[in-house]
Amino acid sequence: MTPGRPRKKTGALAAGTLVLAAMGCSAREPGLPRVQAARVILITCDTLRADRLGLYGYPRPTSPALDAFARESVVFEEAYSAAPWTQPAVSSLMTGRAPEEIGVVPGNVRRIGPDVETIAERFAARGIATAAVVSNLLLKRVEPPPGVQGPIGVSQGFGHYDDRMLSKESVRKLPERVASDTTAAAIEWLDSRGARAKEPFFLWVHYQDPHGPYTPPAEQAREFDQPVRDPTQLPLGKSMRGKDQIPLYQALDDERRVDVYRDRYDAEIRTFDRALGRLLAELEQRGLYEDALIVFSADHGESLGEHGYWFCHGENLHREVVRVPLVVRFPGGDGRGVEPGADGVRRVATIASHYDLWPTMLGALDIAPGPSRGLALLEPQRLPLERAVVQDFQPLEQARWWAVSDGRYRLVWSADNPAGRLFDIRSDPEERNDLANEDPARVRAMQAAHARWVSTRVGAVSSGSATASDLTEDLQRLGYVERAGGGD
Ligand SMILES: [Zn+2]
Repeated sequence: MTPGRPRKKTGALAAGTLVLAAMGCSAREPGLPRVQAARVILITCDTLRADRLGLYGYPRPTSPALDAFARESVVFEEAYSAAPWTQPAVSSLMTGRAPEEIGVVPGNVRRIGPDVETIAERFAARGIATAAVVSNLLLKRVEPPPGVQGPIGVSQGFGHYDDRMLSKESVRKLPERVASDTTAAAIEWLDSRGARAKEPFFLWVHYQDPHGPYTPPAEQAREFDQPVRDPTQLPLGKSMRGKDQIPLYQALDDERRVDVYRDRYDAEIRTFDRALGRLLAELEQRGLYEDALIVFSADHGESLGEHGYWFCHGENLHREVVRVPLVVRFPGGDGRGVEPGADGVRRVATIASHYDLWPTMLGALDIAPGPSRGLALLEPQRLPLERAVVQDFQPLEQARWWAVSDGRYRLVWSADNPAGRLFDIRSDPEERNDLANEDPARVRAMQAAHARWVSTRVGAVSSGSATASDLTEDLQRLGYVERAGGGD
């Protein structure tokens, strides 16, 4: 069996046969041994579009380290985040459940409550060491409000949670941590383990660099500067929004040429990639690389002008903000039956999502995953005929958006545009050509799939938790999250 390249039969199915992924349901087939890893390492990068990376076909040299890593891994071509904003995206990745099930819809204000189990808690309950190094302010550990018992947010379950952020963004002056410091902090934890270094652990490292404002070190900026190709210049907005304007927080002094912003974004990716390369090399040097399960992804993407949105995320649900890179290195560099393509990279075209990381990462350390919205990646299983991945998101003080993807088509609609727009992402990856009028049956089928997805809950629905810190107020003042109460 070759679980890699697209299962041709799925594309030929009539739209009416679209069904949901059976959650947590899998039946192992003989022949392919289960994944067994000595440890699990999850590396995520903020605001990183898949299509700006060499391994996904980008011609500029933004990601040599990640490209090399991909050549001994399996690359998922069509992987999705649960949401286009950090808090709901990362919370879903860490729980295997949808944002609306775990109380983090809409926006960035609320945290998952102590009633929601995280993957780190599940590892820790089995005596496995857990550590995280995070570099986005929204991922800082926060105190629960009065009356709430226990830790809240994605830091739940981590024995070591390093959220030191000594750098500052250029406009809002929000704390953050740059890539070289993020790598150094991860190495510091690895070295602190001493004699226990090779005992099983779950390590999560989150980089921040491609998140705006795009202010790479001068050396990287020079490397990616090129003559302006697109003459567009945009006004600087008075808000943090990116519709038809440069969001206030993205301002690069008096620069208004959009191509300069795009070049700086690329340079930020290269900055991150350099630090990633060092982390992978240090893991290898310590004998922690070869027999690990190493997962790389991004929390969400970024708009670079598509659909009129500029240098922002969290304002719509088009593909550029929810499609993410997903690269998984199985122990020993095993391809799990996926054959390399002409460029030597093993690629899987079947749709995947962050939800799949829950059963994949737990299973690698032989822990029963329990229910989630995910399917273990490249475990032989009775796949549903066709799979739907849903996003449901409310941008800052704007109408709610929904999207359904099945790997071939995406249907995107919002409260302002309830009829929806349908795109064939194989021929139209930038979602420019709306097919909704030509194929109403498919629109209906995908909306029905969405309704089934929503009605099938995984576990008790949580209302999430507010935070007790001033952090939320600061973020509201800076336009980073919606007003208080907006998440209720
Ligand atoms: Zn983010």
